[in-house]
Amino acid sequence: MMKGINGITLKGTLALPVEIEVEITGGLFSITVVGLPDAAVKEARERVRAALRGIGLTLKGRIAINLAPADLPKEGALLDLPMAVGLAKAAGRVNLSDGAVFMGELALDGRLRWVRGAVPAAVMAKELGVPLFVPRENEREVALVSGVKAYPVDTLLDLMLHLTGEKQLGPIESRGFEDEKFEADVDLADIKGQFAAKRAIEIAAAGHHNILLTGSPGSGKTMLAQALKGILPPLSDEEMMEVLLVRSVAGMSLESGRSRPFRTVHHTASSVAICGGGSAMRPGEVSLGNRGVLFLDEFPEFSREVLESLRQPLEDGIINVSRAAGSVTYPARVLLVSACNPCPCGFLGDPAEQCRCTAHALERYQRKLSGPILDRIDLHVAVPRLKPEELVSLDEVKSEPSESVRLRVQAARKVQQDRWRELGYNCNAELPEKVLRRNLVMEEDVKPFLAQAMRGLRLSGRGFSRVLRVARTIADLENSRKIAVTHIAESLSYRRGEALNHARR
Ligand SMILES: [Zn+2]
Repeated sequence: MMKGINGITLKGTLALPVEIEVEITGGLFSITVVGLPDAAVKEARERVRAALRGIGLTLKGRIAINLAPADLPKEGALLDLPMAVGLAKAAGRVNLSDGAVFMGELALDGRLRWVRGAVPAAVMAKELGVPLFVPRENEREVALVSGVKAYPVDTLLDLMLHLTGEKQLGPIESRGFEDEKFEADVDLADIKGQFAAKRAIEIAAAGHHNILLTGSPGSGKTMLAQALKGILPPLSDEEMMEVLLVRSVAGMSLESGRSRPFRTVHHTASSVAICGGGSAMRPGEVSLGNRGVLFLDEFPEFSREVLESLRQPLEDGIINVSRAAGSVTYPARVLLVSACNPCPCGFLGDPAEQCRCTAHALERYQRKLSGPILDRIDLHVAVPRLKPEELVSLDEVKSEPSESVRLRVQAARKVQQDRWRELGYNCNAELPEKVLRRNLVMEEDVKPFLAQAMRGLRLSGRGFSRVLRVARTIADLENSRKIAVTHIAESLSYRRGEALNHARR
């Protein structure tokens, strides 16, 4: 059972308790804080002192504040409120016998400011069975953690009155996730033509396959990527909690809805911005995109270093971020959508514009495109630019809306979950190569067909496994237990780009 006055510190998306011990002895006024980095102590001390003065408590004597355990890294602002309460208790202003958790940054006038980490704090308080006091501005997100006893606080004075029993704070009412709506930003029906690419993103969504879209500027790669978000199944409660935890720890406000995160990363973004870290230790884009889509536009422009660091999240669904005081793990299970031009000038194979690239430039570009991450991409898809006359004629063609595609995707996901549950996997993309190949059921005529196709395409062993993996998803979209030749044939069409590159090299 937790005792005393506690604050929190964050480790990854976990909140850990920090116990506040205060001792006041006679003598000249001084405050010493043990267990906080110097700069943070100085600022926190000033805020706490001013806020306490605001409620008529002037600190006197030699004050020692111990933040335990000492070896955990801590952040000053998160600990303002528990330090203030600890000082008030030591000065005899409040009497607190049971354990409680406090968090919040104090303004000089005693108001409480929004802080990051309220969601993990609520999860922690719930597990420990103690009440949590948070700034009013954090109320909405804390309300999503069901079963926690929490109170929203506007000012230090309000909290003091509550603790002395003079005025009760109303508890935060849990509202859970039930009323969250689901929205697609870009509907598939709004994208003209591109039937092959739409089919490919449906497969990507169904099996959680990473995908590469290759096309000239203006061909609609970005819209297709955004539409993918809208056909993914809505977040489950468990997944929403993961998303919420990461956002809370990143210091970002709540984004409502069950639609999955979609994070676009520009190639000029720093490694810290993408992977996480920094002096204040925040999750990066790959974690903010957890359970959703990470979109890398202009894929060949990304540095080797960044692409290399994405390898772990793509394989394990987590990312380890190191810093001086040890390393931290954040969730990072993303569906990677990357997009690139077919060549440096962007018009190789375009119906209207001529490609102006030299053979040398083309070769260099192709080389940039190969590498560790490309190895993790199951689907390679060409997104051709439409001719003006095609655009006009397509005005008449009705395209399937995202909602009905999403139902197919959800059904295919269910098939995969049921099939792989016993082995501990969720979807086709998660299965290691060996496990996948041992567990495939195919029609009789598939093997000879495959053998022949492989000779023609010259795919690597890994490429071969990816063909099978994607074929499994295509079969699942049809709810077919066995993989058939048609499934393999379609799957092979998504490797054509790779085979071409192979031949050129
Ligand atoms: Zn070109």
